[in-house]
Amino acid sequence: MEKACYPGSFDPFTRGHLEIIERASCLCSQLTVAVIDNPAKRHLFSLEERKEMLQQGVSHLGNVVIDHFQGLLVDYLKDRQIGVAIRGLRDSSDAPVEMQMARLNRQMSGCETLWLAAEGQFLHISSSFVREIARLGGPYQNWVTPLVAQRMEAKLAQ
Ligand code: ADP
Repeated sequence: MEKACYPGSFDPFTRGHLEIIERASCLCSQLTVAVIDNPAKRHLFSLEERKEMLQQGVSHLGNVVIDHFQGLLVDYLKDRQIGVAIRGLRDSSDAPVEMQMARLNRQMSGCETLWLAAEGQFLHISSSFVREIARLGGPYQNWVTPLVAQRMEAKLAQ
């Protein structure tokens, strides 16, 4: 496969995301990790902060680029001439929404979606739980990269 795109909010980027990025990068010649820029949604980290943490986290992978988009994913993919979206599946609760999104995207533009099943050790990690556990003072550090942990601490100290 030539080009693929892994879209997400990455608020923040976790080791679960990293595992999917590492595996997806082996399946294509260029993987674009695209951060969804939705100004209507409140995020813990700004777009630039989310992109910076991703950039640092994937620096060991030569064929991964970090980008962002607003609006429909299919429009972004068409613009960048990318035909495949990658998504990570944690468990069956991810499946209904992911399948619906994949079908909608395919009907709108012919874009295919490829799902990678998360490895057992990453199944329980989600950005929202990382944020919540960090906010409550729990040990979330093993689920993120050292830079993300550092940025989380700084953010929560504000
Ligand atoms: P989250 O669901 O953690 O808020 P995103 O909205 O950024 O994350 O999700 C981007 C993609 O990454 C989605 O396909 C999501 O299912 C997947 N993903 C999120 N966390 C994990 C994980 N721990 N393992 C595998 N895939 C994941």
